[in-house]
Order: sequence, then structure tokens, then C-alpha cells
Amino acid sequence: VADSQGHLRGKRVPVQRFFDTVIENGVNIADAIFVFDMQNDLPDNEFINMDTGYLDCTLMPDIDSARVLTHRPGYALVFCNTLDEHGNPHPLAPRTVLAQQIERCQSMNLNPIMATEMEFILCTQDWEPVTDYIQYSSLTDMMDLEDVLRDMRAALAGAGIEVESSNAEYGPGQIEINCGHAGAMKIADDTALFKSIVKQVAMQHGLRATFMPKPWADGTGNGMHVHSSLEVDGANAFASSAHAPNELMEQWLAGLLEHAEAMTFIGAPTPNGPKRLRPYTFAPTHVCWGLDNRTVLARCIAEPGSKANRVEFRSAGADANPYLILAANLAAGADGLERKFALMDMSEGDKYTNPGDHAPLPTTLADAVATYRDSRLAELLGDKFSRSYVSIAEAEIAHAAEHSPDADEVNDWERTRFIVHS
Ligand code: GLU
Ligand code: MG
Repeated sequence: VADSQGHLRGKRVPVQRFFDTVIENGVNIADAIFVFDMQNDLPDNEFINMDTGYLDCTLMPDIDSARVLTHRPGYALVFCNTLDEHGNPHPLAPRTVLAQQIERCQSMNLNPIMATEMEFILCTQDWEPVTDYIQYSSLTDMMDLEDVLRDMRAALAGAGIEVESSNAEYGPGQIEINCGHAGAMKIADDTALFKSIVKQVAMQHGLRATFMPKPWADGTGNGMHVHSSLEVDGANAFASSAHAPNELMEQWLAGLLEHAEAMTFIGAPTPNGPKRLRPYTFAPTHVCWGLDNRTVLARCIAEPGSKANRVEFRSAGADANPYLILAANLAAGADGLERKFALMDMSEGDKYTNPGDHAPLPTTLADAVATYRDSRLAELLGDKFSRSYVSIAEAEIAHAAEHSPDADEVNDWERTRFIVHS
């Protein structure tokens, strides 16, 4: 399972034991995994703490999610649903939070189809980017990295992740590997596993990979663009959009924009994440949408009659918990459908220089938490989950105030805290 930070945790089980008992009875793990921070410290939490005794919860294999790990011959992996001590879906487990939002869409007869676009920086052992230059999409200059990238693509494909392409991104050592779209739960599972595989293959080549959203204040950020569309009776319900969203897509997009400020917290849940949301970085800064425009928050692909029509939501950092940010996108979009939100006017041109009167996205974790705490989005994602997740962030805000107080700087303390495990 992914813990609250999106980090994969679980138990290694011999094959025979898996088929003898685990497949039916699951395995136990401490519920602390849903409340600790990236360094595994346990900030105060009202639901899971010394008084509750850090109970075991049960990981029940979702056997359809099983994959063979070809980069580790002899190993397979299965994602699990987490049950609490009463045998109910664990309210703090990210997979539970996403399952609830998928169900909500399905109860409206809509099947959410999603994809994530992951950026990361390939580094040397001592965490310097492997190149000191930018050569966006070069097929020549990053040739010495092709061995490791080829192994990453092969390992991802081996694990059942549909690789579409990889390219050098717009930053020193920065890489993007694009993967296909599928149902929301598969994409969340794939994205959590993607990060684990990319890090492991980098290490097999004597390198490291980081998904930290803003490792260097003056450098590029690592984003996680989230794509969504809705399938009705097996067909993309956004397909009839032509150079502008159709009615369903309009309401879906309006929901995403309505909740965009609060959603910043889910997409940027550490003090580092909001530092990525700065002008002229290709990360968004204001709540606005457009067609093919990399300066807006929500980029709509609305080609006449295209099965690929979708919304690309660009605020999340690559460290966002994939289950939670997908759940937040679905909760926001579905709210737009349910309450038939009207869509704001489309934006054109450079939205960094000319943001007009569009609302700015929060630029610090404290502001992001403030917009989320009592929001409708927090309620939609679940009261217990939201309170717990906010309390983890509050502990981070207190640490950062002590060690890394500048909202526009990223110091060594912050890098040490986040670069490895993001
Ligand atoms: N690296 C940019 C970000 O942090 C995104 C670049 C792009 O793919 O447009 O969001
Ligand atoms: Mg990119």
C-alpha cells in the first residue's frame, strides 16, 4: 500500500505462503504508516497515537492489481486494500479515499479514465543533477543516460505499466516518462509503483532519482500532471468537445477550478511543494484554464471528435500522493457535475505576466492548508482523512518554521528532509 506520503510499504512474503494464506487472510501492518511523516516520525494525531496503541491493520490483496517485477527477477507485487480493526475500509488509507471517489463517479454512471505525467531529476550518488545543462527532448545530448532510461522503460513495462515515451525535460538531469491512461485505481497504483521502480533502476545504475517538487529554488520543478476524462458506456464522454469543452466537460472542469485552491494542499502537501508554483516555470500560478497553453492551471485537450479529449490539471508536484491527488480531482470534478457549475472564461496568452483577476494559487504550505481545512473539498474527501492529513502538514509547517523559514529558498535542511523519499 501507499502510505500517506505515497511511499510503498508492505510485507515481503514467500510465494508459497502467499498462496496458502495471505491471498485470503491478508497480512498485518502497523496503522502508524498512515500518520507518520516522510522521516517516519509520528507527529501528534487524534486518530492514531500512543493512546490508541498503534494498532495493526490488515492489508488485503487486490489480486487484479498483481504484477511481476521484471527488474527484480523472482519478485511480484500486489496492491492491497486496508481494513481497520473492525474489518472496515481504513478511513486514512489513501487507497480507501480514492475508492470512495471512484464509487461516487460510478454512481453517476461515469467511469473516470486518468493518467499521470511524472517528472523527476536523475542525480549522481551525492544528489547533483546528472547533467548541468538543459537539452529539452534531445535525442543526442543525453545519450549517455539512455542505458538507464531504457532499463527504466523496460522495468515499467515489465510491471504492467503502459510506457508511451520518455524524453529529457526542461531542466538539468530532468526526465519525463509518459505512461498510458486507464481506470483511476490502476493509474494510482501504477504511479506509486512508477516512482519506486524509477528509484530502484537508477540505483542499479549507480544513480539516484528524486521526485522532490523543487529541489533547488532557482532550478526546475518536478510536476505530476493529472489527466482526466469520463467514460460513459465505454466511450469518452468528452469526445464531442470541439475547440471548446462540451457541456459535461465544462461542468467537470468548472468543478476542478472551483476547488483548485484547496486542492493545492493535496498536490503540494509539504513545505517544499508550493515553492514550485512560481511564474515562468511552466508550473501554474493562477486559477485559470485554456486550450493548448502551458501557462494555465487546467489545459483542455478538445479536438473535434477525439477520443483523447481530456483535462490536464497541472498544479500537483511529483511528490503528491497519487491516490489522494486523483481522488481530489475526481471529488472536485464530480462536484462540478452535481452542482452544475458554470465555467469561467477561457484564458489565452501568457498567464504569468497577465493573470488578470484570476485567483492566485497558495504559495506556501500554511496558505494551502488554510484554504483546505474547512473547505468543501476536505469534507468530500472525508472528515477523518482530512483532519489527519492536515495535522501531518501542521507538524511540517512547524519544522520548516524552525529550519527552512524562507518561502522562496530551498536550503540543505529541506533537501535532506525530502530529496530521497519524495
Ligand atoms: N516542470 C514543470 C512543472 O513543474 C512542467 C513542465 C511541463 O511539462 O510543461 O510543472
Ligand atoms: Mg513535463
